[in-house]
Amino acid sequence: MSLEPTYVTRPALPPIEEYISEIRDIWSARMLTNAGPKHQQLSSSLSEYLGVPRASLFANGHLALECAIQALGVTGEVITTPFTFASTTHAIVRSGATPVFCDIDPDSCVIDAEKVESLITERTSAIVPVHVYGNLCDVDRLQQIADKYDLRLIFDAAHAFGVSRDGVGVGNFGDVSMFSFHATKVFNTIEGGALTYQSADFERPFTSWRQFGQVGGENAESVGTNAKMNEFAAAMGICNLRYVDQSIELRRRLSERYQSNLAGIDGLTFNRPQAGVHSNYSYFPVFFDADTFGRTRDEVALALAHQDVYARRYFHPLTSEFAAYKGRFAVSETPVAAVVAERVLTLPLYADLPMAEVDRICDIILKTSGQST
Ligand SMILES: *Cc1c(COP(=O)(O)O)cnc(C)c1O
Repeated sequence: MSLEPTYVTRPALPPIEEYISEIRDIWSARMLTNAGPKHQQLSSSLSEYLGVPRASLFANGHLALECAIQALGVTGEVITTPFTFASTTHAIVRSGATPVFCDIDPDSCVIDAEKVESLITERTSAIVPVHVYGNLCDVDRLQQIADKYDLRLIFDAAHAFGVSRDGVGVGNFGDVSMFSFHATKVFNTIEGGALTYQSADFERPFTSWRQFGQVGGENAESVGTNAKMNEFAAAMGICNLRYVDQSIELRRRLSERYQSNLAGIDGLTFNRPQAGVHSNYSYFPVFFDADTFGRTRDEVALALAHQDVYARRYFHPLTSEFAAYKGRFAVSETPVAAVVAERVLTLPLYADLPMAEVDRICDIILKTSGQST
């Protein structure tokens, strides 16, 4: 047994000397925040890395998402998924709009694009899908629907840093995409986030929103908030960006080991790889069908916890089931999401997770099932 517990993820840290070297510049420049030199450098490096024309940085991904929703004037109803992190649904509700939950596709866990159109009413103003686990939504179909009904299309790409399809970065789809750079994500700035977008028209409202509506003066042109990324966070991003490709490659190897160790087990399934999609291997979700696997997802999670392995149920409960929304939404409207939420367990995955730990975790799962040979 390993000496330390294994959690679902572990923050990536650059060599400390590299961070200190970046921090020294901050001491010299005496600019700690407000779009200083580190912020500007990271913003352009990220646009390049993500292959997008424009990126605006934020204090965190959640505020970036609220900014996209509010600055684009989204009101009324927003079609979205309940199979996501709290942030997606909260951002819609906190912006004064009403989430309308669409069911998900069981193979990729993203919004089922074929079910979106039937949920559109004259109050619908936007679609907010999530690239869950870095799996790409059906971006073409969603764009078609958005165009047909003149809806905003805002992607929650918090899980999808570095994902591309046929060489096109995921941040190029829809009107706007939000990335999270939280400590636990594939790429981190401690806390941080970004919006990427094609239209130059969004740059000013986004900049304004994150700094009290004040762009270049004491007057305020909009009722903005404070959501600026500070220089220390940007410095961490500059360092971490140097290692992100290597980190995704390590994640790939670990994911493939999980796949081969757990292949062919009755009642245990994975998400399917998507054609043409370069994945970032941000999570390793497995799905337990208790009837055939022989144990429930929660029994497996408990067996792992007994061996000091802390897998997580991303995403259970559905956001539509949150106590905060009691009585407002019916889980029965998204039956596929309801089943997936009961079956999913995301296994530990981070760049420096030892391969031997993956093997040990798989052994525990196999023993639990009673299917090990
Ligand atoms: C992490 C996450 C967010 C929020 O990002 P923060 O940077 O933590 O504010 C939003 N949506 C999803 C799906 C996430 O996983």
